Amino acid sequence: MSSVQLQGIGMTSRRTRERLVTRLREQGIKSLPVLDVILGTPRHLFIDEALAHRAYEDTALPIGFNQTISQPYIVARMTELLLSEGVVKSVLEVGTGSGYQTAVLAQLIDKVYSVERIKPLQLKAKERFRVMGLRNIYLQHSDGGMGWPSMAPFDAIIVTAAPESIPEELLEQLAIGGRLVIPVGQNQQELKLVVKKSDKEFETRIIERVKFVPLLSGTVR
Ligand code: SAH
Repeated sequence: MSSVQLQGIGMTSRRTRERLVTRLREQGIKSLPVLDVILGTPRHLFIDEALAHRAYEDTALPIGFNQTISQPYIVARMTELLLSEGVVKSVLEVGTGSGYQTAVLAQLIDKVYSVERIKPLQLKAKERFRVMGLRNIYLQHSDGGMGWPSMAPFDAIIVTAAPESIPEELLEQLAIGGRLVIPVGQNQQELKLVVKKSDKEFETRIIERVKFVPLLSGTVR
């Protein structure tokens, strides 16, 4: 990939990203590190060429296999929630998808573990991380509802597809003081922030209404 592709031209340029960041600020995103990373991350690389000119609109876009790349506002909001307290050195992401959220996390957190159930999506994401030179991302092809037990505990867990209820396994794999950000529900989904106070004690906050694709079980080769 040439540096022109990485930097972007016209509708994929830094100027276009600056407008996106301005809009995110207006919507209440406050974290400067998060806004800075979004400014520097070429979202057009995470979308098929035919749609790349829409990369910096604040909307979800299709990435194939009935899945979508998350809306930038949601990526910013979830990342800000994960980082809002304490030191976060490791994060588990369930639902790599295009890899955009993963790439944002990898620029803010030492170690990013990400699981995806659809192999072709995972392979495309992996190539994007290579092009961007991101080396602190560890990928696994699996059903992420079970988390990634051998790498646990995690300081933070982010889920980018909605289960009907929070998987117990994910709560178990959180470190004490760790934070889980997850959309929950079928049609009416709520974004929840769960903080693990002790082995048995969890504090849950409802953040806002959201619309995610469903968390599905099993894997696709
Ligand atoms: N963060 C991604 C969001 C992609 S959409 C992005 O911005 O591109 C949600 C992703 O979760 C899809 O790629 C879907 O295949 C994946 N997914 C759904 N259920 C899953 C599960 N049980 N385990 C792992 N990944 C899952």
